[in-house]
Amino acid sequence: MSGTRAGIGPESYCICLACRKRFSMANGFLDPSSVVPSAEREWQKNRMIISVASGKGGTGKTLVATSLALSLSARGRVQFLDCDVEEPNAHIFLKPVIERVDQVCVPVPEVDDKKCTYCGKCSQVCAYNAIAVIPKQILVFPHLCHGCGACSYLCPEQAISERGREIGTVETGHSNDIEFVQGKLSVGQAMPTPVIRRVKEQINCDGMVIIDVSAGTSCPVVESVKGCDFCLLVTEPTPFGLNDLTLAVETVRELKIPCGVVINRAGIGDNKVQAYCFGENIPVLLNIPIDTSIARLYSRGLAMVEGMPQWKESFIRLSDGIRELIRERSGSPKR
Ligand code: SF4
Ligand code: SF4
Repeated sequence: MSGTRAGIGPESYCICLACRKRFSMANGFLDPSSVVPSAEREWQKNRMIISVASGKGGTGKTLVATSLALSLSARGRVQFLDCDVEEPNAHIFLKPVIERVDQVCVPVPEVDDKKCTYCGKCSQVCAYNAIAVIPKQILVFPHLCHGCGACSYLCPEQAISERGREIGTVETGHSNDIEFVQGKLSVGQAMPTPVIRRVKEQINCDGMVIIDVSAGTSCPVVESVKGCDFCLLVTEPTPFGLNDLTLAVETVRELKIPCGVVINRAGIGDNKVQAYCFGENIPVLLNIPIDTSIARLYSRGLAMVEGMPQWKESFIRLSDGIRELIRERSGSPKR
């Protein structure tokens, strides 16, 4: 395995990630036309999409994401996307002024009884059991429908039309110099990914984009992280933190996205997270010590770098380190 040193600090290790594929941000699918040879991929100085994720909840992911955004906003254009749509909370720390609210709807089928012959094809094709045909009656379960459109496409009688069902909103605004976007899944809805997709449609690639991702490793995390240039994984040095970090690393590696680790509350637990990162060639880019001052700021709804501005330089260095890792990766030979 060929590797290069991250060179960010004493905890930085080799990283060898040579994927040349990129995901199309617009539709979330692998776009063959976007497979760019690494030698031809020119690094744009001010453009970078960083997702901030964590396998485990409560590790300080939003603390890192908001502090990173605030620190970098002094250097240029920054856009912050809160993709933790089931419980977005970055607004507490960034205090944006919301200027626009857009509905997010998924198309659900509506059947014209006059045209329907009850052939059952729509029910057979639906992978989510959202439409059922019983003798002379057709039932649609909107909350199970994922809006894939297969039933209306395959209906031989063109008996199915679609209507929008609201599942959430996308809010856009500003927090001083930071462009702010957040998704909100409506209460009782179970499909966060269409809302996340709509949030990511707002990405402005002219500057730094920071995406706050939900905890875990399920579909919302994959939807949020794919297409990013780098994934920052925030963890804590405990057995739970390590366990969930390993799952998160597996997920981002499957997506072929380079990653690095921030250890929050360093000083508690043990050194197994460090050892794991060393063994897996994952750079540890920043250690944030356990400190009651940080917890106090957090409880008052203040971003870490607002109450402790001396940390801004560390977050700027963190961003520079990520940029360097991506640059090294884009120039690394294919494995
Ligand atoms: S596929 Fe069309 S015609 Fe057949 S049962 Fe469904 S809605 Fe009716
Ligand atoms: S749109 Fe897709 S998910 Fe919804 S009922 Fe039709 S086939 Fe099922």
